Amino acid sequence: MANKRLALAGNPNCGKTTLFNSLTGATAHVGNWPGVTVEQRIGVYKDKKNGVEFDVIDLPGIYSLSPYTPEEVISRNYIIDEKPDVVINVVDGTNLERNLYMTTQILEMDVPVVVAVNMADVLDKRGLSIDLEALSKKLGVPVVAISALHQKGLKELIAAAEKATESPRTGTSILPYKTAIDQAVAVLGDEDEPVPSPLFHAIKLLEKDELEIEAHPKAYERVQEVVGKDGIDYEASIADERYKYLTALCKEVAKGRVEREAEKLTKSDKIDKVLTHRVFGILIAIVIMFLIFHLTFTEDLFYLGAMGVNFGDGYPGFITYVIGDEEIHMFEGLFWTDGGINGIGTICANFVVGICDAITAGVGAGLELAGAESWAIGFICDGCLAGVFAVIGFVPQILVLFAFLSILEDTGYMARVAFILDRIFRRFGVSGRAFIPMIMGFGCGIPAMMNTRTLASDKERTKTIRVIPFFTCGAKSEFLIMIAAAVGAVIAFPTDLFVFLIYGFGVVVAICAIIVMNITSQREEVPPFIMELPEYHNPQAKALGIHIWDKGKHFIKKAFTIILLSTIVVWFFSHFNWQWTYLEEADTANSILGGLGSLLSPLFVPLGFGKVQTGSYSWTYVVGSVEGIIAKENVTGVMESLAAGYGFETFAELVSASGITTAGLVAFAVFNMLTIPCFASVATAKSELKDVKTYHWTLIFWLGLSYGLACLAYITFEWVWTLAITLPLLAVAIFCLVKYNMYMNDKEKKAAAESAE
Ligand code: GDP
Ligand code: MG
Repeated sequence: MANKRLALAGNPNCGKTTLFNSLTGATAHVGNWPGVTVEQRIGVYKDKKNGVEFDVIDLPGIYSLSPYTPEEVISRNYIIDEKPDVVINVVDGTNLERNLYMTTQILEMDVPVVVAVNMADVLDKRGLSIDLEALSKKLGVPVVAISALHQKGLKELIAAAEKATESPRTGTSILPYKTAIDQAVAVLGDEDEPVPSPLFHAIKLLEKDELEIEAHPKAYERVQEVVGKDGIDYEASIADERYKYLTALCKEVAKGRVEREAEKLTKSDKIDKVLTHRVFGILIAIVIMFLIFHLTFTEDLFYLGAMGVNFGDGYPGFITYVIGDEEIHMFEGLFWTDGGINGIGTICANFVVGICDAITAGVGAGLELAGAESWAIGFICDGCLAGVFAVIGFVPQILVLFAFLSILEDTGYMARVAFILDRIFRRFGVSGRAFIPMIMGFGCGIPAMMNTRTLASDKERTKTIRVIPFFTCGAKSEFLIMIAAAVGAVIAFPTDLFVFLIYGFGVVVAICAIIVMNITSQREEVPPFIMELPEYHNPQAKALGIHIWDKGKHFIKKAFTIILLSTIVVWFFSHFNWQWTYLEEADTANSILGGLGSLLSPLFVPLGFGKVQTGSYSWTYVVGSVEGIIAKENVTGVMESLAAGYGFETFAELVSASGITTAGLVAFAVFNMLTIPCFASVATAKSELKDVKTYHWTLIFWLGLSYGLACLAYITFEWVWTLAITLPLLAVAIFCLVKYNMYMNDKEKKAAAESAE
């Protein structure tokens, strides 16, 4: 027998996903965002002792059951059509009045309901209490207090849910319009097919709900005929009545909250006055972001090195081993180098790199002792280990970066960043709603692209999906750090600043691209969006732990599967020529891959890493870039492995040998950052975009934009005087866009006026 189904419904941010995770042991993404959950997620709750088993469904966060956004429609249809055995309506106890609005609507459906008042821990801390019994009596359904985060009250909740499934429930309404509602229910009773949850539908018909009118057009006309005489504007007064009812109800059941609420509001407002200030808000955001990048990536934490403090030869390391006749100090430079003190991320990375290097050296020496052939040593050390360890070596820094970003997200600050961006870019037609999936793109583009389902129109989704890859994800930050280190070796540019600037560059490109698409190919009226700012939370160590663990696991799994496979394939084709003879070190340019790469390398001359600039090494940059389309970690893994094939220790050595200029390196970074993202996100984009044509244009867009901007970056950095040509051209382009926009606006206005006549 199939399990009973328990659906979680509630406003965004009330803790549904946290509850889902607590009940099912899953590790779904939790965030202090409006509307993070888009897809339904299904998990299993098991209590072996009592033999209870439920399928738990996490529905998207919704404010009400009126169809304003796709997520609301998903939840509403699920409850009505799929008829779960019980709905757990999760409400945020610290925000009872607003959260119960939706409860009054769920109660109108013919489904067993249990209300879970969440955040009991916060209520306790603030000295607030809710009279559960009185609330339950008023609503007519069981009410249980829980803390999803601290896993309190879950047993009671499940017991109440279990009991509720045992008897069917008919919808009830708190609205005072009994006669009108009864009349509407009667009308629906005459429909050809029986309507499930008639009370809910009847009220929706009174409210002139769009979806409802579509579904029951005849019934709608009848209802309006019957109730039209009442002279009541149900559309407006039903919402009013719900609020009136809830204000009275909350006064009765919530103790000590009225004055506290005001106090809390001013506190939250006070923080927001500074953090979302019109001018300082954006500056503070930039400073916070830079601090994070600095802490994570710097090698000069307190700028002591820059101020001329002498660090000698740096930290000497604490384990010494001898390989052959070479003495190696493991963990050399772990905490500080000759240039300064390392940031947190750098220390973690150095630690892991120290271990990886020792393993590689040990394995190499062991194989040599055992008398292995030189190609076998090369294959294992350069083909397998170099690539995999290059990817793993950067994981600590990415995890530290993620920890910081995750804290910002969990506290609710990221929602403020979206809010600030919304305020600036709304006038250019970029809706704030789209910034949420975009900022999620800093983590991984795939869930971010799926999150675009919360957007109102196809065009808005298209625009957002196209720019999500420009928000640098974890995998891309790997090769950015690698390139930053190489740039640092050439012109002593700080790593943290390089990574920060290129992240920022991605955001700017994304916003400009959206504005251009808004004016040209994806014109539309942007629907208004009022962003809810969630309350500030303390970051949760557990949520953070889950998040980091998930990310780390993901990277390591990828390193040992797709990345390992890619580097092995690359190693083979870069160490054998067409006659299948093995090529010794430094001869790899004559390999099969070397030949194929050289074939393509003229294409990259305008980008600064073609044959003209990098000579016989040009094929490595080509192979790295092409492999990046499979997975972005490959850019790192493959480049390091190819460098090892040449006998270099790091990518930075390959860079200086190949003679690529800093401008060329910047272009290499820009190209790989903006071009077609990995296979997995391309597949996601394909399934999320509305048709194949849009998908093909999206691929062309990514390829064209990355090529063009990388070329521009190369030319500008190599020959700064070219700005004298590009800037005026840019001005002309902007002028044309503005003119075109005005022309189209006029035309659209005229067309609208004509159709009105
Ligand atoms: P959803 O949008 O309804 O899925 O909400 P989430 O599960 O993503 O949670 C939103 C925020 O509330 C997160 O920051 C959670 O850590 C936090 N949260 C959830 N449940 C509790 C709880 O019981 N107590 C506290 N203090 N915070 C909670
Ligand atoms: Mg959720």
